[in-house]
Amino acid sequence: MTLFNENYAKLPGSYLFSTIAKRVAAYKEAHPGQQVISLGIGDVSRPLVPAVVEALHKASDEMGRSETFRGYGPEQGYAFLREAILQHDYVQRGIALTADEIFVSDGAKSDVANFQELFSQACTVALQDPVYPVYLDTNVMAGRTGAFENGRFGGIVYLPCTEQNGFVPQLPACHADVVYLCSPNNPTGAAMTRAELKKWVDWAAENNSVILYDSAYEAFITQPDVPHSIYEIPGAQQVAVEFRSFSKTAGFTGTRCAYTVVPKALQVYGRDGVAHSLNALWLRRQTTKFNGVPYIVQRAAEAVFSPQGQKQIREVIAGYQQNARVILQALQRAGLTAFGGVNAPYIWLKTPQGIDSWTFFDKLLTHAQVVGTPGVGFGACGEGFFRLTAFNTPQLTQEAAQRIAQLQF
Ligand code: PLP
Repeated sequence: MTLFNENYAKLPGSYLFSTIAKRVAAYKEAHPGQQVISLGIGDVSRPLVPAVVEALHKASDEMGRSETFRGYGPEQGYAFLREAILQHDYVQRGIALTADEIFVSDGAKSDVANFQELFSQACTVALQDPVYPVYLDTNVMAGRTGAFENGRFGGIVYLPCTEQNGFVPQLPACHADVVYLCSPNNPTGAAMTRAELKKWVDWAAENNSVILYDSAYEAFITQPDVPHSIYEIPGAQQVAVEFRSFSKTAGFTGTRCAYTVVPKALQVYGRDGVAHSLNALWLRRQTTKFNGVPYIVQRAAEAVFSPQGQKQIREVIAGYQQNARVILQALQRAGLTAFGGVNAPYIWLKTPQGIDSWTFFDKLLTHAQVVGTPGVGFGACGEGFFRLTAFNTPQLTQEAAQRIAQLQF
């Protein structure tokens, strides 16, 4: 008899997107003539930009010639890409890091999922509610929580993100060893200002805690008081790991490339009180369990930082940002209260007359043939809210927006 990891049994089934798909399929079957538009997707709709495609072709040709063929690469990523990231995302912003503090990977999802392995089973984890589900589920799998009761896991410190606090997590009343912060946020679209983030960095320094800062939507920041990196805050290199991704920045959701910054100044401790470098531990983990991102993909990611690449991806992002404005205006015209959409591709709307988020889902589907995501699917504090995304094409976003604007609530 082989025993399984029973922590997996604690996880409630991930029914959110399959329930949505089933409801949409049933609606389409009953109404074959109607065009249903999805503003629920978290995937991009625009293709890779020409500079990236050119780099992919060039690198593919190199792989086909014996003089330039590459086999296994460095687990941490090729120096050319780590240097490009370092210069563009950090040095040019006045942040002093080194290339060996940057780890290239196949996705921010796997990195945020895997990183918790470096912490003791006994660590207390804090996370936002509502939340990107990966942070919570991977800690459940690792056995760092109790049972799931009344919508919450025992042992987790939940940080409610509500209309009252502007969807910005407040410092917890109790201790937490590891805190996941996602800014700009999925699903609420809220982004922490420099002052708000400073409170967390100071708190982590005082409490000897580690912040895992997921900044997958950094490219969507528009407001000057929202930092592009947590390392813009003094002292953050002692307390924070930063996760970034090419997925939403440059349409790499299917191409797969991301990176994680683990500063050498960041230390964790053994039970004997001896300090250990988190950077060294992550390097050990990655060299053991990961064999790097394909050379071709890393060359493609490098091209994102070229002047042409930057110009082209900025145009694509501007298109998604315009979609977000179109959606926000439509919601306003329909008399709905909405948040986000300014520093993020996500719009977080308040369901009208206190209806629950699944009822709103059905209403939007049946009255406007528009699909979104019920907020409660991201956590208990998401009840009464609904997520729309700006990732569809301009044409379909316009069409969906017109339908929403005509709704009467
Ligand atoms: N982090 C957040 C907050 C996300 O919303 C997503 C994707 O939806 C990811 C990470 C995953 O990024 P990647 O495609 O790099 O794995």
